[in-house]
Amino acid sequence: MVVNQQVVVVGSGIIGASVALACQDLGAEVTVLDKGPLGGIASGNSFGWINASFAENQAYFNLRNEALERFRALDQRLSLENHMRWQGTLWWEDVGRDFAEQFQVLTKRGYPSKLLKYSEIEILEPHLREVPNEAILTATEGAAQAKSVALAILDEVKRNGGTVRGCVPVTGVGQAAARVCSVQTEVGELLCDVVVLATGAAAQNALLGLDWTLPMANNEGIILQTDPLPQVIQHVLMTPDVHFRQNLDGSFVAGEIFNGEINPNVSAIGLASEIISRIQTKLRNVPKLRLAEVKIGIRPVPLDGMPVIGAVPGLVGAYTAIMHSGVTLGPFVGQLLASEILDGYASPLLKLFRPVRFA
Ligand SMILES: Cc1cc2nc3c(=O)[nH]c(=O)nc-3n(C[C@H](O)[C@H](O)[C@H](O)COP(=O)(O)OP(=O)(O)OC[C@H]3O[C@@H](n4cnc5c(N)ncnc54)[C@H](O)[C@@H]3O)c2cc1C
Repeated sequence: MVVNQQVVVVGSGIIGASVALACQDLGAEVTVLDKGPLGGIASGNSFGWINASFAENQAYFNLRNEALERFRALDQRLSLENHMRWQGTLWWEDVGRDFAEQFQVLTKRGYPSKLLKYSEIEILEPHLREVPNEAILTATEGAAQAKSVALAILDEVKRNGGTVRGCVPVTGVGQAAARVCSVQTEVGELLCDVVVLATGAAAQNALLGLDWTLPMANNEGIILQTDPLPQVIQHVLMTPDVHFRQNLDGSFVAGEIFNGEINPNVSAIGLASEIISRIQTKLRNVPKLRLAEVKIGIRPVPLDGMPVIGAVPGLVGAYTAIMHSGVTLGPFVGQLLASEILDGYASPLLKLFRPVRFA
């Protein structure tokens, strides 16, 4: 193992925080820099569903599936119970053939999933007024307040001697003999051996001295939160027209648009109010939901939709980790990347997700 490598992580969202902690665990001296407040941007605007239910191919499923276990381990290590729940998911977003196909795919992949009938769902979610005829229960899944998790991870990095600084924009990467030797920031230069770009949706922005940017297809999503209510919902509920769950404080979190752009003719508050009334209609014996916050988030999505993790082509010591589903993947991706950077171990799980495909 190489020790005392100076690693600078650019970006303090759930990905940057996870990479930093994992690098520190392997002996590196770690500095996390963020151009804005700590905890990330997308990470603060996320639905936060931790799942492997949806994966376009087997390699992506394998990554997500293992990521659930790694997140559980992180939860135990850092006692994240104030920031997340492992409540499982009830899914009935699609019906008919699509529903059957989804269940078939999950079963074929050996993913813990169970087909539930009306009477079983009614027992599990007694406050549901609109009980579906069937739903898929994926009991090992959970949901996190991703920014709070990122902040908890960064606290651990600081406790272990790492440096974490917000409001420090990184503007460039210095190199000597085709190797990273420093990062340039608006407040000066910092020497390092390794730089990790965990800049989320900003990955398409160039840094001085780095002849590489990632083509992105970022897209928007609306997330709303209500005032706290008593706990009435037991799972993450993925229904045909709204996805919602309850935080530990009882506030509901909901999201509607999971792909594409938000209709510019609809105001965010108007859309959020409509989503709230959809949820209210689905529930019974639940006090009135009151909108507390509406956020329009930008999902960091590389051009082909798949995660981009590993060495940046053309510059030794430069790495990146950019992806959607970064809440699910963050802790595991952090470990995989750290072990590649510091132990030289290139996990076969990352084979299809390398930056070099965009070189
Ligand atoms: C609406 C919505 C719903 C989502 N739902 C889910 C979900 O249910 N499940 C799931 O797993 N994922 C979900 N995601 C995706 C997930 O939130 C992201 O993949 C994850 O938060 C990305 O984390 P990150 O650390 O890469 O990015 P961010 O949290 O955006 O952090 C990147 C950081 O980099 C900093 N930065 C950028 N450029 C620089 C620079 N030059 N110098 C210094 N700092 C810089 C930024 O300031 C930012 O703080 C959702 C996202 C959105 C928006």
